[in-house]
Amino acid sequence: MPEPIIQQRHRDFMDGLTRQVLSDYGITCNIRWYSGNSCNFRVVQNNGHREYLITYGETNCASHYAMGFREYATVRYVWWGMDGRKGNKALWAIALHECAHAIQEDRGYLRKGAHHDKRFCDILFELIGKYLYSKVAPPWTLLEDAEFL
Ligand SMILES: [Zn+2]
Repeated sequence: MPEPIIQQRHRDFMDGLTRQVLSDYGITCNIRWYSGNSCNFRVVQNNGHREYLITYGETNCASHYAMGFREYATVRYVWWGMDGRKGNKALWAIALHECAHAIQEDRGYLRKGAHHDKRFCDILFELIGKYLYSKVAPPWTLLEDAEFL
């Protein structure tokens, strides 16, 4: 049986990056992993308290890892031609995308039908520059990513 593409080290990479970004921005947010095919940010109610929740789906991450993560059309330009990257760069891009939603909500910018608007793009663009892949990727990604060069 082939080993699953999303392993503990991949989850640790995305968890660690997500926690670092949210902590730097002073945001409290839970992170949940499940086996499924969706990554998203949501505001949930927990005993009457509003809580932020980022959900990462292993199947979804594995698919983007193998096929590349392509942004929504309105967001693509912020990646400066780096959109659609595979491997750990896809996981990095997913984590920054969901963190940008948490920051967007924290600033009161997250509105129905405006999830991937200009303000979202500005936040994501800031994150890409601040958490450059070359700065935040663990050493083991160097070997693994060579497969996708
Ligand atoms: Zn989104």
